[in-house]
Amino acid sequence: MTKQKILVVGGGIGGLTVAIALRRQGFPVILIEKSPHWPASGVGIIQQFNVLRAMQALDVLEDYLAQSYGFDTTQGFGPQGDPLFAFTAPRLAGEHLPSNVGIRRTSLQNILAGKARELGTDIRLGTVVEHWEDTGDAVEVRLSDGSREAFHLMVGADGIFSQTRQTLFPQAPQPRYTGQWVWRYNMPRPADVTGIQLFYGRVNGGLTPLSDDLMYLFMLSEEPDDFRLERERACAMMHERAIHAAPQIRKLMDNVTESAEVVAKPLEVVFLEDEWHRGRVVLLGDAIHASTPHLAQGAGMAIEDALVLAEELASGDALDPLLRRYRERRIERCRFVNHNSLAIGDMQMGKRRDVDPAAINDQCVKLMAEPL
Ligand SMILES: Cc1cc2nc3c(=O)[nH]c(=O)nc-3n(C[C@H](O)[C@H](O)[C@H](O)COP(=O)(O)OP(=O)(O)OC[C@H]3O[C@@H](n4cnc5c(N)ncnc54)[C@H](O)[C@@H]3O)c2cc1C
Repeated sequence: MTKQKILVVGGGIGGLTVAIALRRQGFPVILIEKSPHWPASGVGIIQQFNVLRAMQALDVLEDYLAQSYGFDTTQGFGPQGDPLFAFTAPRLAGEHLPSNVGIRRTSLQNILAGKARELGTDIRLGTVVEHWEDTGDAVEVRLSDGSREAFHLMVGADGIFSQTRQTLFPQAPQPRYTGQWVWRYNMPRPADVTGIQLFYGRVNGGLTPLSDDLMYLFMLSEEPDDFRLERERACAMMHERAIHAAPQIRKLMDNVTESAEVVAKPLEVVFLEDEWHRGRVVLLGDAIHASTPHLAQGAGMAIEDALVLAEELASGDALDPLLRRYRERRIERCRFVNHNSLAIGDMQMGKRRDVDPAAINDQCVKLMAEPL
């Protein structure tokens, strides 16, 4: 049976993953990305064994491992830099694979975009939807490149500020700022940073290895709603926020010298509890469940959404029930990551006392170990 054409809106981690997974099932796919260039910025991302499993399913594992830094250990340090704990995470994707990796966002984007292209995805950068209408039989779409096409399904993978979500569910919750910003900077990896190192105290932050010679330093800060980053002072602003950090972090701040290299972002969240689709339009990734990075699983959830959605579509069942099943299979994990990441951030800001990050992490590992 000829498979029907699918439009993916958004070429981030979720959009590229669903394009690959759909192409592997034989669906013709057009992927549009509003940015004329791939938008991933150069800082890294932490991913865990569930993402390694997904990379295997997408047939990109070899490239992924070659371009990332695998590790099993997590170390925690107190305000004076004193060791608090250290543990080795189990290798739940297989004994031959690390339990976590650090990878540059650009590397991840290039691997996924390369695979999506290799499998024949029609990728159109610098393109957006100008108008769409779900006629019941198809989604009729006019794109900004002048083309008009009818699709079996439109997938909104357009991130936390999703235009697709806004049009589909205008009453849905809007993204909200949590009260924290995250500051990140790439720098040379010291030989002793062979796993993730977390620092607690007045300033929470950490170090993530990305390759044999690179890592990134991250640091959280509490900022008022009207806080604005002064781009040309970004370096100074990051230094100001590191004054009360652990000594190891303060020492590494000597590497933070270029304002243009500082990546600083407000943490924003959104979660759609109810519908994830209507008619022939469905949402995926941050468009439905953008989380803070405290559990390092936001991209993992977008990647898993993509695998499950493609698997359900391949069943060939009627669209409405299969899209409901997609949400049912995903909501527990996505809700867990979204709500618990937020809870850890709230605890760091003193807004909650009933939060146990170690217990949350354990629960998270157990949940992610379950089959999709
Ligand atoms: C500071 C920070 C640190 C993080 N660290 C981690 C981590 O360590 N591990 C982890 O797993 N997750 C992490 N995350 C979460 C992770 O980045 C996201 O969950 C993930 O990027 C979501 O992927 P997505 O494809 O759904 O959305 P996005 O990555 O936002 O991609 C959406 C894409 O859609 C495009 N787009 C937007 N609007 C349109 C439109 N109208 N038409 C066409 N294209 C459009 C955008 O340009 C973008 O390319 C972090 C997030 C933040 C903010």
